[in-house]
Amino acid sequence: MRLPVCVDFDGVIHLSENYRSPDVIEGDPVPGVLGWLEHLQERYEVVVLSTRAESVAGKLAIERWLVAHGPFGGVRATAVKVPALVYVDDRGWRFTGSNFPSPEDVHRALPWHKERDARGRLDVRAAASAVGVLPE
Ligand SMILES: [Mg+2]
Repeated sequence: MRLPVCVDFDGVIHLSENYRSPDVIEGDPVPGVLGWLEHLQERYEVVVLSTRAESVAGKLAIERWLVAHGPFGGVRATAVKVPALVYVDDRGWRFTGSNFPSPEDVHRALPWHKERDARGRLDVRAAASAVGVLPE
């Protein structure tokens, strides 16, 4: 039995520049991810954790995208957090027992693929798109 490792889809596996809906996946793989996933699944069960998988259409879209991009037919997608050794996510905060993120830490935290403008403002529309919600 291989122990599970949970991997986020958008921002870790898939570059989601123009998020439209959970079942529409049009972006490219994150550079280097396909070889990494292939190597990882030699030893661990890769489980893709994504809110896209809240719907059957989104779950199937992820699994089809994976099959189209490599030997990932056995990789399942879920929106439910499952027990895993490690969670790989572009928006995670590594908690070490006391380092609760302050509101400022949260404000400054950006995934690797996002930047602030010269005035330090986050592109709210892009950030909302990246997490699959529409900004108000
Ligand atoms: Mg993500």
